[in-house]
Amino acid sequence: MANNRALYEQVILEHNKKPRNFREMPDADRAIKGNNPLCGDQFTIYLKVRDGVIEDISFHGSGCAISKSSASIMTSLLKGKTKEEAEEVFRRFHSMVTTDPDTPIDNETLGKLAVFSGVREFPVRIKCATLAWHAMLSGLDGKEESVTTE
Ligand code: ZN
Repeated sequence: MANNRALYEQVILEHNKKPRNFREMPDADRAIKGNNPLCGDQFTIYLKVRDGVIEDISFHGSGCAISKSSASIMTSLLKGKTKEEAEEVFRRFHSMVTTDPDTPIDNETLGKLAVFSGVREFPVRIKCATLAWHAMLSGLDGKEESVTTE
């Protein structure tokens, strides 16, 4: 378990340093601002959705390593997914980060998302980890232009 944790931290730091899909998207269909005032995380999630499929997704802004790496991994996982598939990935992610820290992690279904299992021990960090996801969901629904964790 300790080894896993070190590995997970490494993945998070790597994504923080070199985030994937970290760019503004001037021609996005939807841009949703996500704000986590508790930590100071502020990201905009950009989406291009065609026929119910996420054709392109990117993000920009600033925040802590957890929020940034979570947005980075999210964008790399969701490109090409349908709205329903994206919602399912979110459900898996969300139920993992809100379980008891002792609950075993199902690496097979979670894949890369397992790197965020450590946030379960730090409830305040759960908001960092899920910020980009809430903004993404809101964008898929096409309702809000901004979300906040508060
Ligand atoms: Zn944060």
